[in-house]
Amino acid sequence: MPIDKEALREKYAEERAKRIRPDGNDQYIEFKGQLSHYLADPYTPFVEREPKRDHVTFAFIGGGFAGLVVGAKLKDAGISDVRIIEKGGDFGGTWYWNRYPGAQCDTASMIYMPLLEELGHVPTEKYAHGAEILEHSRNIGKKYGLYENALFHTEVTGLEWDESAHRWTVRTNRGDAFTAQFVGMGTGPLHVPKLPGIPGIESFKGHSFHTSRWDYAYTGGDANGAPMEKLADKRVAIIGTGATSVQCVPHLARTAMKLYVFQRTPSSVDVRDNEPIDPTWFRNIASPGWQERWYENFVGNQSPTPPDEDFVQDGWTEISRRIRSKVADLPREEMTPETVLAAFEDADFEKMEEIRARVDTIVEDRETAQNLKAWYRQLCKRPCFHDEYLQSFNNPNVELVDTGGKGVERITGKGLVVAGTEYEADCIIYASGFEVGTEYKRRAGFDMEGRGGVKLSQHWADGMRTKHGIHVHGFPNAFIVQPTQGANLISNIPHNIVDSAKTIAQVVTHARDVKADEVEVTKEAEEAWVELLLTGMGLIIGSQECTPGYYNNEGHAPGPAARLNVGYPSGAKAYFEYIEEWRQAGAYEGLEFR
Ligand code: NDP
Repeated sequence: MPIDKEALREKYAEERAKRIRPDGNDQYIEFKGQLSHYLADPYTPFVEREPKRDHVTFAFIGGGFAGLVVGAKLKDAGISDVRIIEKGGDFGGTWYWNRYPGAQCDTASMIYMPLLEELGHVPTEKYAHGAEILEHSRNIGKKYGLYENALFHTEVTGLEWDESAHRWTVRTNRGDAFTAQFVGMGTGPLHVPKLPGIPGIESFKGHSFHTSRWDYAYTGGDANGAPMEKLADKRVAIIGTGATSVQCVPHLARTAMKLYVFQRTPSSVDVRDNEPIDPTWFRNIASPGWQERWYENFVGNQSPTPPDEDFVQDGWTEISRRIRSKVADLPREEMTPETVLAAFEDADFEKMEEIRARVDTIVEDRETAQNLKAWYRQLCKRPCFHDEYLQSFNNPNVELVDTGGKGVERITGKGLVVAGTEYEADCIIYASGFEVGTEYKRRAGFDMEGRGGVKLSQHWADGMRTKHGIHVHGFPNAFIVQPTQGANLISNIPHNIVDSAKTIAQVVTHARDVKADEVEVTKEAEEAWVELLLTGMGLIIGSQECTPGYYNNEGHAPGPAARLNVGYPSGAKAYFEYIEEWRQAGAYEGLEFR
């Protein structure tokens, strides 16, 4: 049957309108005061230590993939005193905190897990589970000697440039005040959990926790997938149906006496098709340089000129392939920006119709199936992939409580209220996500102070300004690791990290070789890079027409600063080619070594 595009557009707009709220990001509340216990680390005991007052060559904030990979590349370059400062009790970043049952990468492990080749690790599954990824993170820390100098359970509170000493002073919540010639920041985009500001949230008398602080002591089971047998006599309510909830609901469904899934907006849930990695197959493909070739192949598949073969074949390369083939069907003479966007929309309508049809083939109860269908374009929200989530709603103990786009109305001492009905629960699990739209300094917990005492928030008052997304004028010897203003490859963040780590290690090595105390991007080079970024098409996700969420500032118009949250105009593949040439040239165009 042909797709009625106009009817779908209307339906999408109607569903969006139900969800738009005047309070936008302010609907979420911080874990402060009475709620701060939610943030406690359930995984690692706190150990007292003396404050550090020494000096290191390189201090890196964040012990997730960014800190680990930068640390590894620096060690390879012969920088022996690298100190990683991490608020968690161990390395792993997002994989340290997110140990909820079923946690699993959504991008194929072969390209998601960094430094596989260097560690000689063969992922066990096409999409590895969290415990393996956390273990891999620890193994990177061990192999590169990054544990020796690391400060865990430590949060940076201040970072100040000391002009005369050409070094940074790093202050922390553990009383440390040490210096570093270079600093790096890789705090990740999703590390501050948020709670929905549901009236009465503090009055709940039962147990509750956020998915990023899973309480296995309460649920039983463990992060390796052991069943949560302590839930056998519990009524569990989970709030949220994003990527986290999609992965943990099947596990809760298996063991809880009763599971209520409170939904405001359904996720799009496509096929997962996970499978074990066959070591023989792996040996055949794993000739030296294999992971780099896979990175190139993946990013090539996201570009308009893909390689002949798709090595990765995951959900993301499938999305690109579909869009590309629709665009390729356009007769050459009809190829305009408008027809390309229309072809993109057609590919999207087809995909989303398939995803909605999949719900009907899996979910037995008609009303539940209808409520689980996502009415928006696939990239409006984080696409999900799972082969057990929708199936969970066929279990007699599982009940979807659809809130018609309005969210949970109220929380009482005994449970949750939706449309006037109270659902009693023993435990509430908040799968409510992480802060994204809030100010960077609130999320980071500090505001870096560069040359002349200028704060990073001041330098970026009108939007982020960098060269390559890494170097910032006025902040010498400092490096930022994140995808924006570089490749902006969001379907495989680790590739951005690995590439930035190469740049940083090479720049630091060069500074050492030429005996420079400082390296800094010039004002002109930063301006030129920003100008170049502004020649691009702008944001590819986060359209205002989308249903609200963190991709589009909860549906509110983005501030003027958002126009700079973009990547290299010619795309991720072109960026990686460009930066490789920039590194190879060895001229470090735009940087000044003094
Ligand atoms: P999300 O922000 O994606 O989801 C939060 C959920 O809470 C949404 O369903 C939201 O509904 C719901 N919610 C918020 N307020 C209320 C309310 N008042 N009443 C009812 N529901 C409410 O968080 P996640 O932790 O799921 O995921 C965050 C990100 O982390 C993902 O987008 C992804 O980038 C990453 N992630 C990656 C994984 C991987 O790669 N394997 C796995 C898990 C997460 P609404 O949609 O209406 O706002």
